[in-house]
Amino acid sequence: MQVIERVTELTATLEARRASGVAVGLVPTMGALHDGHASLIERAAAECELVCVSIFVNPLQFGSLDEVGRYPRDLASDLVVAEKAGAGVIFAPPVEEMYPQMPAVGVHVAGGLGATLEGASRPGHLDGVATVVAKLLAMAGACRAYFGEKDYQQLLVVRRVVVDLSFPVTVVACPTVRAIDGVAESSRNRLLSRSEREAAPVLCRALRAGAAAILAGESERSEVVALMTAIIEAEPLVELDYAEVVDAASLRVPERLEGALRLLVAARVGATRLIDNVGLAG
Ligand code: AMP
Repeated sequence: MQVIERVTELTATLEARRASGVAVGLVPTMGALHDGHASLIERAAAECELVCVSIFVNPLQFGSLDEVGRYPRDLASDLVVAEKAGAGVIFAPPVEEMYPQMPAVGVHVAGGLGATLEGASRPGHLDGVATVVAKLLAMAGACRAYFGEKDYQQLLVVRRVVVDLSFPVTVVACPTVRAIDGVAESSRNRLLSRSEREAAPVLCRALRAGAAAILAGESERSEVVALMTAIIEAEPLVELDYAEVVDAASLRVPERLEGALRLLVAARVGATRLIDNVGLAG
């Protein structure tokens, strides 16, 4: 496995491999790799001859430098996880390589997609994600790019980046990997204390209860939201940010609970913000 820090080297390496007929898979991550990331890398390795995993904690998508500093990092262990899952190239650039100067130009996520849910709770976050993804896709060139449904709104944003900015990239969505107690695997889970980790399954429990209520015939969105809210608010260590049911394609609040839906929650568990979601097919 080759570890690359420079953009020119990354671009040249992937370009040369593509020229010899190799299909490239790209798995963008912020590191602190876990089973969720491994599942993306394994899927990419099953579908592409060369898998590049990028590891970059993108300061543009955080609210403060404090938050960036708190984000877990463990490059040594990441290299082991990535190689075992089938990565051939790791792209781990220093911040100055990705942002040699403070960017004057970036990608803005407009409309409902940018304004709702994570867009409403974390101003600038989705723009920061869209900008770094656009940069990574520009550096990587034609590829299949693998993203997790765990970050559902991000996945929709990435799809729009590819379509709206015409990248020669196929986006592949991968299902959320969960621990046995239902908690979605996340790098941020490393920041939880033991009691916080024990409280964390409430997010998934609320989502599953909401989905079960809809499947059992509940047709009032507000009732489903109230049910998920009550379940999460009953857990003292958890502070709810939002619980919502939306149209899976547009993220708009549906007039009637029909068609493909997505249930999403965001909450603080102690000082750590976690998100999760589940889907209901139409
Ligand atoms: P991150 O390092 O958190 O930015 O995540 C990198 C990629 O891994 C994103 O596409 C995430 O959606 C995906 N991912 C993170 N956690 C999971 C999970 N539990 N299951 C599946 N994919 C995940």
